[in-house]
Order: sequence, then C-alpha cells, then structure tokens
Amino acid sequence: MPFRTAESRRRFRPGVPARVAGLVAVLVAALTLSGCLKQSDQHTADGRLDVVAGFYPFAYLAEQIGGDHVAVRNLTKPGAEPHDLELTPSQVGAVSKADLAIYEKGLQPAVDAAVAQNKPKAALDTATVVHLEDHGDLGEGDAHSADPHVWLDPVDFAKIADAVSAELQRIDPAHAADFQAKQSALDGELRTLDADYRAGLAHCQRQDIVTSHAAFGYLAERYGLVQVPIAGLSPDDEPSAAHLAKIQDLIKTKGVTTVFFETLASPKTARTLAADTGTKAAVLDPIEGVKDPSKQDYLSIMRDNLAALRSALGCS
Ligand SMILES: [Zn+2]
Repeated sequence: MPFRTAESRRRFRPGVPARVAGLVAVLVAALTLSGCLKQSDQHTADGRLDVVAGFYPFAYLAEQIGGDHVAVRNLTKPGAEPHDLELTPSQVGAVSKADLAIYEKGLQPAVDAAVAQNKPKAALDTATVVHLEDHGDLGEGDAHSADPHVWLDPVDFAKIADAVSAELQRIDPAHAADFQAKQSALDGELRTLDADYRAGLAHCQRQDIVTSHAAFGYLAERYGLVQVPIAGLSPDDEPSAAHLAKIQDLIKTKGVTTVFFETLASPKTARTLAADTGTKAAVLDPIEGVKDPSKQDYLSIMRDNLAALRSALGCS
C-alpha cells in the first residue's frame, strides 16, 4: 500500500457525502491510533528510510551504513552545538514521522522528550549499546554524572555502528546485505583508527590533556591519557576561579605544552589560560557537530585530533 499522508487522506474522496466522509475520517483516525492501518515501511516519497539523528556522529553512522537506502536528517544543524539543543516544531514533526530515530538519552533532553512523546516507528538509544561511565573528578558541578561522549572512543563507536546496522537490517530486511557490507567496511576503518591511536600515543613524554570541556574521558581512558577539563560535561559549565587556578598549577607541574579549545564552543577561556601560562592553544575537536560535512567527517577529524595530541604530548 502506498504511504498516505494526512493531507492526501483529507482530500481523497471529495464526491462522498459529508456525513460518510466524516465517518470515514473517524474510522481512519481510530485505525491509525490502534495501529491497524498499516502504512508503508518506507516513509520518504522516494522509498528511502526516514532516519533522524540527534547530532552529527549518529547522522554520520546512518549515512555511512544506510547509503542510498536512507534519508538522514541531523537534528543539530551543521556548526551548532548539540548539548541543550532546542527543537523546532518541524523537527519534532520529523521525529514523529521517522522510521528510525538514533539518539543518546541524557545528552539532548529535547530529543529525549521528542522521541518519548512522538513515538517514531523505531528508536535506538545508543546509551543502551555502550555503558556510560562516570569519569568523576571533572571539576565543576557534574562530577558524578554519566559521561555521554562515547563516540570519541573508536572502539565504542564501532559498537554503536554495529547497533545502527542491526536496526536498519531489522527495519528494512530487503537491503540487509547492503547495510551489512557498508558496516563491515566502516568497522575496518574504525579498527585501523584504533590501531593508529594505540601506536601513535604509545610513546609520549606527557599524558595530561587540558581540554575545553570534559568530552575526552572515554578517549583518554582507552589510550592511557589523563583528561584535565576546563569546563564540565557540557561546554557552557563555567569554571570557577579556584578550578582555573588548579589547572594553572597542573600545567606548570606536569609541563603541559598545549591548552585545547574546540571548534563550536567559545575558545575564550582556553585561549586566556594558554596566554596566562605561556602555552599553546590548539584545536581538539569533540565532533559534536561539523561545520562543513563535505570537507570533514568523523574519520578525518579523529585523525586531526590524533596529530594534535601527538604534537602536544611529545609522542615519538
Ligand atoms: Zn560535549
């Protein structure tokens, strides 16, 4: 059965007397509510699966694995910051119509609410795929919250890719082989990336990374680094003067050469800290959004990050 929009339902029988049409409308509404009126499995006009993603890393996975069989909408605009995202009514509408919503519960409360209230046909909460850890001692406010930044660990990200692939295969079994093949290729890339991080960070003069916000806990843990975040789990957590003083001390005692800032959040505090301590300021991108996805993607940014880390830590 072809997919019928609400609009086409309204105008599908102009010749029928009003009372009958009204009754039909009530029946259609009741059947839709009870789930008996089966709509097509594939929701977009051209037959592709309609996938919404909370922010860039999940949109990237859906595009890489779904290929031509999916139409992906990233709820966080390119260049915008995903923490505390607000959704427009049209974005909430997109969630309600989606064949699949990919999100991480706890990272974007507006997306959590839109998924809970609007019931897309399927939803994948990536926090159920990878165990979220409490990285503790993050300085300000959220010292004991679950850290959402799992996508920065290529090993965890590969597990999420696997879950996205499984979900796409379940929803659209006709294209399962394609999803499987694309996920295998991506898995190979992520394994190579992990191997390059291991090798690239194995012999370094320093381990401490001063970051703009506490986004690199999983990455630090995976590769034996120590994260010293200026802000907490969200970039807009303001650091206190006492916290900044503590980081200044640490920069001196540990011989830190670089204070990292981000592409999306304001670099002001990081730059000031770098200037005050006579260190360099450099970009370490938490990949929470990408300004121009035609020029950069998850893999290229992860490689830029590795180069930045190797340079800051004096790795051979
Ligand atoms: Zn973050």
